[in-house]
Amino acid sequence: MKNLLIILFSFILGGSLFAQNEQNERIISAMHSVSSHDLLEYVKILCEDRFEGRLTGTDEYMECARWLASFFEDCGLEPAGDNNTWFQYFDIPYTLIHPECGLSIELPVGKKGSVQKHYEYITEYMPGSTSASGTVSAGVVYAGYGITAPELDYDDYKGIDVKGKIILIEREAPVSPSEGPEKFNPWREYSFHQYKLQNAVKHGAAGMIYNYGPIGNPNNAYDENFIYVHVGDSVVKDIFSGTGRTHSETVERIGKTLKPMSFETDKKVTIKMNTTHYPDGKGANIIGIKKGIDPDLSDETIIIGAHLDHLGKCYEIIPGANDNASAVAVMMAVAKALNDYDIKLKRTVMFLSFGAEEQALVGSRTYVENPVRPLDKTVLLNMDGVGVGDRISITAGKDFPLLCKAFEDANDKYIHRLIRTNSFSNLGRPRLDAAIFLSAGVPSLSFSTFGARSYYHIPWDNINTITPEIMEDMAQLMLISLIELANSDKDIM
Ligand SMILES: [Zn+2]
Repeated sequence: MKNLLIILFSFILGGSLFAQNEQNERIISAMHSVSSHDLLEYVKILCEDRFEGRLTGTDEYMECARWLASFFEDCGLEPAGDNNTWFQYFDIPYTLIHPECGLSIELPVGKKGSVQKHYEYITEYMPGSTSASGTVSAGVVYAGYGITAPELDYDDYKGIDVKGKIILIEREAPVSPSEGPEKFNPWREYSFHQYKLQNAVKHGAAGMIYNYGPIGNPNNAYDENFIYVHVGDSVVKDIFSGTGRTHSETVERIGKTLKPMSFETDKKVTIKMNTTHYPDGKGANIIGIKKGIDPDLSDETIIIGAHLDHLGKCYEIIPGANDNASAVAVMMAVAKALNDYDIKLKRTVMFLSFGAEEQALVGSRTYVENPVRPLDKTVLLNMDGVGVGDRISITAGKDFPLLCKAFEDANDKYIHRLIRTNSFSNLGRPRLDAAIFLSAGVPSLSFSTFGARSYYHIPWDNINTITPEIMEDMAQLMLISLIELANSDKDIM
């Protein structure tokens, strides 16, 4: 009898060990099935002209969302959006930027003459992504950070008249998040683009030259009478030339004294914008779920996140190959490998592709306000820009060592990339979907890759700059670590 029990016991144990080994073999096969070729193909499709740069609110964005949803369906995921669809909808106004935009400055020549200097699209200026349409020619007033903060005894508009003028202002605030919460927090609300634009409108400015670098950025407010552009150093330098001041000294002095240094320049610029605003746009997050099989652990949810949207046209199509087609491609490869090799997971895994990350993170805010599964049993593994470079960065990795360790272990065992992690103070303006989840108390890591030249928010962030090998490694790392976390018998939250 005793012998029989031992035989029976070993048979059961052997059977489960066999199942365990078999799953392990399938995991290794799944990892090696991830192909840089497929990943590059996904990025190519996401960057096709038919999706017009995936600006949330447009029909082209929703066409792309449907394409991704059908991929999720092929991977055996279940829809988890509104009314059992793949989509969690939200309202999102948007602006299309058409060609025939321009920026020029009148520069003095000799005693009375002048010459009109036209700036170059992309290298010197970019159209404001939420600018109104029209042409404005006016004198330029330097208005510091464009901030009016009575409680801080600080007003960039004091002592200057900007009515009907074009202002030149800086991004951010005189105090930076790196100076710590005590110093920065009082300034935080004034560092938002929306605030600066609305404050300029309130003071009667006719237009704005935003010293933001010549890149697109639809994370801003819209005012039907307010025209603006984003510029880089060459434009700022021309506006300061002959004023007896330099830009760098002016900014440094504002930072040191916390006193405005606004002044009327003698320059006149012309901004020409050709845009259409759509106040009633509709966007959506795309949500697919793979239910966990463990009766206790399946309540817990691991979200793989990657925003689908990008900048649309500004005025050329900005394809956003690295930002963020690369991460959507990695998400797709992980979903496919799990399905192709029938990998069983104890915890529930959600594939969540956000809309409107580029438009003030409206998609991730919508999810956090209307979570499909309880947030207190959720962790987020977010990816943003994982297609360029040879190293991997894990934002907030030091804040969530339990989550991060799974990635470090998998990297040591299989991938061997250099990984950099940090603590994330989440002080400044939120600029990642993960920041919205962190503010809601959800443990969140955010992955990006770095170590090579990349282009950000300009048309050159296209398929030619993508490194398929880093995407492959990122996908394999995500797959192995995700399986480890989803099947761990230990606490991961
Ligand atoms: Zn992004």
